[in-house]
Amino acid sequence: MVQDSEKSALLRNEREGVYWQPFTANRMLRANMEPRTMVSAKGAYYTSSEGVKLFDTLSGLWCTPLGHAHPRIVEAVRKQAETLDFAPSFQLTHPGAISLAERIADLAPAGMNHVFFANSGSEAVDTALKVALGYHRIKGEGNRFRMIGRERGYHGVGFGGMSVGGIVSNRKMFASGMMNGVDHLRHTYEPAHMAFTRGQPTWGTHRAEDLVRLVTLHDASTIAAVIVEPVQGSTGVIVPPVGYLQRLREICTANGILLIFDEVITGFGRMGENFGAQRFGVTPDIITFAKAVTNGIVPMGGVIVTDEIYNTFMTGPESAIEFCHGYTYSGHPMAAAVGHVVLDVMREEGLVARVRALEPVLEEAMHGLKDLDVIADIRNIGLTAAFDMKPAEGKPGARGLALFEAGLRHGLLLRCTGDTVSFGPPFISTEQQLRDMAATLRKLITEVC
Ligand code: PMP
Repeated sequence: MVQDSEKSALLRNEREGVYWQPFTANRMLRANMEPRTMVSAKGAYYTSSEGVKLFDTLSGLWCTPLGHAHPRIVEAVRKQAETLDFAPSFQLTHPGAISLAERIADLAPAGMNHVFFANSGSEAVDTALKVALGYHRIKGEGNRFRMIGRERGYHGVGFGGMSVGGIVSNRKMFASGMMNGVDHLRHTYEPAHMAFTRGQPTWGTHRAEDLVRLVTLHDASTIAAVIVEPVQGSTGVIVPPVGYLQRLREICTANGILLIFDEVITGFGRMGENFGAQRFGVTPDIITFAKAVTNGIVPMGGVIVTDEIYNTFMTGPESAIEFCHGYTYSGHPMAAAVGHVVLDVMREEGLVARVRALEPVLEEAMHGLKDLDVIADIRNIGLTAAFDMKPAEGKPGARGLALFEAGLRHGLLLRCTGDTVSFGPPFISTEQQLRDMAATLRKLITEVC
């Protein structure tokens, strides 16, 4: 039994940091901060261990668009656990995985009809990179080994995803473990040209020409794939300039390079379409997905590939296993069951259309903060938005941290990275909740800055 006196120590994780928290400043947290433990969640709100009800401004980590403890999902989890809690994924499967793959393919752009399951965004990305390498090899172009990512891109934490990713702090510590032959496009974010743009900026389309430069430098015959997030989520909602993704598509097609859209955040409705591909009118060769597909309740990820890619594997050199890759939990019955309910609820409640209706409300609410002196930029697209605060003298990140702390006290769970705050509220949010969120932000920003 844990005594009361021990309880708060446990909450603070002071026991020598037995629990080593991911992507967390563990020392700082243990040294001087209040416990930040969520104890329950319902709908669009968390409740913290201090009893504060917090509006979930990022849908967990972009992954719970239907809100928490959705009764139909809770029921599906219970039923599936009783019926078939696990089925081996190699050589065997179960009906839920097959039918979920079919439903996901139906939502994807035309010609993308094949789904391979993983369990996270990181696994989905590494799967996509391996599909690209295998595809070229089967086609007799095994020399295509290079991957092109983009600065400020986030593609998870596997060795592949880390290598194509473009967040400097995530790369530095592991530089010695990077994949060979990876290069990067520049990102498209230049506030001098686009600050306070609503939706897609018109500046920056020419940055797609970076790809022409890299193709010339490395030679097309060595490049397997280009991977980009349609909207860069983790580095603060960097929206693609008008025509930028189209131009990447043209250059890839002209040079036999596969285009991968990492849709771990943008997939399943957040852009007001099933996928970002449809929102931006560009069909890639591979889409990665995760997060929202199971509303964050059990892990699932995966890739969707074109008929051309799938058929290449299926008609390649005869070998028993066409793609030597997979996870124990690929297409896990619990995840598949939840995935079905998520797609049911999204369809029945018209949630993708609701995102389209909420987009201007979020846009208006967020851009309404523009008059605050400390705000350096505000961006938005679909049901995502972000703002940057000007850093405090000599203390970058201090304002973000202060705002995060203030949010915990005043009813907002905020995602602050440095002085940037990102938003991806649940699709079930009401217009009033979005306006209230902005009103609270105005108060808190004024208070802490
Ligand atoms: N790709 C993108 C675009 C992401 O946003 C994320 C997670 N934020 C990942 C990959 C990695 O997903 P996971 O944390 O599930 O491995």
